[in-house]
Amino acid sequence: MSRFWSDVVKGLKPYVPGEQPKLANLVKLNTNENPYGPSPRVLEAIREATAESLKLYPDPNAEQLKLAIANYHGIEARNVFVGNGSDEVLAHIFLGLLKQARPILFPDITYSFYPVYCGLYQVEFETIALADDFSIRVNDYARPNGGIIFPNPNAPTGCLVPLADIEALLKSNRDSVVAIDEAYVDFGGESAIPLIAQYPNLLVVQTLSKSRSLAGLRVGFAVGHVDLIEALERVKNSFNSYPLDRLAIAGAVAAYEDREYFEQTCKAVIASRKKLVGELKALGFEVLPSAANFIFVRHPQHDAQESALALRQRSIIVRHFKLPRIEQFLRITVGTDEQCEALVAALKEMFGS
Ligand SMILES: *Cc1c(COP(=O)(O)O)cnc(C)c1O
Repeated sequence: MSRFWSDVVKGLKPYVPGEQPKLANLVKLNTNENPYGPSPRVLEAIREATAESLKLYPDPNAEQLKLAIANYHGIEARNVFVGNGSDEVLAHIFLGLLKQARPILFPDITYSFYPVYCGLYQVEFETIALADDFSIRVNDYARPNGGIIFPNPNAPTGCLVPLADIEALLKSNRDSVVAIDEAYVDFGGESAIPLIAQYPNLLVVQTLSKSRSLAGLRVGFAVGHVDLIEALERVKNSFNSYPLDRLAIAGAVAAYEDREYFEQTCKAVIASRKKLVGELKALGFEVLPSAANFIFVRHPQHDAQESALALRQRSIIVRHFKLPRIEQFLRITVGTDEQCEALVAALKEMFGS
């Protein structure tokens, strides 16, 4: 704290991202990155872009990328907003669409950046408790609100809300924005993007960080009715005209051109998840049903924080949240089969089984 800080800064409670350790050779299963890395075509496109003129500003509208995303999803470029990671897109959504007279609603257990944005932009919110099985029940959101946001699948639980339930929510909630954060949808969910044509208050957010293995490039986007997109463009153009640099645009466009690589790597992650779930259940873990590239698990006999520490001593890092209701859970990213095997071997050693 310093006397030079503004009152806004004094009141902030910033988000704490998962650790990015400097040590090599760690089995890193803590921030839901994709172990396979981006398509070789992405690297090639970025290399080519470096040969182009970096002295020139990039396209402020990243039109080429909007088109690539629109083509992939069968929508129009004017329904797409792109940003420097979906975190930035989310920030603009909180300021541009969710800052309303009524409080917005999101789950009590969810992506912990949401309350941080509320603090930054002074957005009122109420949390809605997940059911006892940690699922989101959309009926619980049927009440007056300034907006609704949740990830689908939810984070850090991995639980999926069926598309029919999302549509039921949209049918009953027409007077405020419903934002669905689909950071993990490619690992087993069904996107709500086709619903944007019918529901002008629906905004769907996705990222290239997880399923397209580009966490380091920082590209995310939102799709929705042009009026919603215009709100986000207005915020963006009042903040940073060039959130996506030339390399990010080139790499992201190439990621959409290599559909086969994308589908293969998602399939591999899903297969490894299935295998890992079976092995952890055999070790006595309770595993929440996951449609994401991570699983959320607890063991009836072993304390989660102690287990996380013991794993760390064995060079494996997973995520533990010291939060009510979930302090006995570990969130484990699905790595390669080799990484998953290292995890299972370490747990067997720790538990003496
Ligand atoms: C990872 C994640 C994001 C952020 O993704 P970036 O595009 O890397 O900023 C957004 N929402 C949820 C739920 C996430 O897990």
